[in-house]
Amino acid sequence: MAPIFDGNLRHFSEKPGGLKVDDFYGDTVANYFISHAHTDHFEGLKEFQDILRDRSNDSVIYCTKETGELIMSRVGYKREILSNKFRYKAVGERFSLRHRENGVSDTTVEFARANHLPGAVMMLFKDKHYKALYTGDFRFESYERSEVTNEMKSFLENTTDIDILYLDITCLDLLGERKGDKNKFPCKRIILEEIADMVSTLTENSDSSERSNDEDECNSEDRPDSEGFDSEGSGVGGPDSYKNVHVDCSALGWQEVAKHLADQFDSSLGICPKDPKKKLHQCIVELLSGDVKIETPHKSFVHNSNGADCKYCTDRTIRIKPSLKWLFYELEGYSYKQSTWIREKDPVEEPGFFNVLYSLHSSHYELQQFMKLLNLSRKAEIFPISRPLGENIEGMSNNEVRSKTKELFKKW
Ligand SMILES: [Zn+2]
Ligand SMILES: [Zn+2]
Ligand SMILES: [Zn+2]
Repeated sequence: MAPIFDGNLRHFSEKPGGLKVDDFYGDTVANYFISHAHTDHFEGLKEFQDILRDRSNDSVIYCTKETGELIMSRVGYKREILSNKFRYKAVGERFSLRHRENGVSDTTVEFARANHLPGAVMMLFKDKHYKALYTGDFRFESYERSEVTNEMKSFLENTTDIDILYLDITCLDLLGERKGDKNKFPCKRIILEEIADMVSTLTENSDSSERSNDEDECNSEDRPDSEGFDSEGSGVGGPDSYKNVHVDCSALGWQEVAKHLADQFDSSLGICPKDPKKKLHQCIVELLSGDVKIETPHKSFVHNSNGADCKYCTDRTIRIKPSLKWLFYELEGYSYKQSTWIREKDPVEEPGFFNVLYSLHSSHYELQQFMKLLNLSRKAEIFPISRPLGENIEGMSNNEVRSKTKELFKKW
């Protein structure tokens, strides 16, 4: 299926010199933007490097420094070309664009936090006629009292009179199919705490009665000492407990889960030295808050790997697969304790394998809160930049998704 967004912004892309967001296909323009470093947001860039290499090309690419660094840490993206073309802008900085023919234009742009991948931003485009907001992928944890949520809230409150909105609707319940809290899954912090709690229980030494009973707080002092962990597993756990943790890295957000666990259990984070994406993983982990050392997997309590046959796993390894898609495709399963968001896949066939709901995209409920704060006028236009997940939406055309989204937002 063709992507639902082609990189062009109404009005702004038509101005002299041109402008494209999160897309490098088609005619060359003067101003490119990348919201964040997931590959579906800079498609065509690898091939476009040949054009950028040419001295006569005067295109530039705006993004945050983090995004630029993450892209250049990927295989096939060349620092010697891209570092000349990237124009790094910080969150909150307002800057003007140029026309190809006559210098500076009247279009200004401002980046805002998106709470997605490190360096991910929303973008606000303005001139004397229009205001367009492009959200990129984003998570708006409206009820969470964190610095990033507060920043996002004040940005939204100060951003009035949007004419055109480009919106990430990955978790939108477009057909009203999902019941109850499925549309209101918890913030990332809660899920991380639940995962750490589970790992703590499953690796617990049977006679470690000194553990605190305080269930609310999740700090490393409460955790069993995992220092001295080695591949023989002499450090943690009783005879029948689990010895280490594997985090599957095929889905978004795994770095946050793995880093949180490494943090909580005072371990390094093991990344396979042969992983072709090692540099990228390392770069993302370093950009997340906290201080975790990257090591080889056999020296770490927490390690990552893509795929089923990880050579660092044993039958005493807890395997965790964080993903957003559990919400939509695999609701069946065995709940771990009271958590709705952690499910052991099959305690008989595959004990110790847990699917965990972890999302870098706003839940349906959070989207509602986002739209409320944005308070669009009736005549504002809305364009989805993603297709919502869900089996019954897969068969719908992009046009159907667009018009159904409009209908739904009218009711909000
Ligand atoms: Zn993304
Ligand atoms: Zn995306
Ligand atoms: Zn493993």
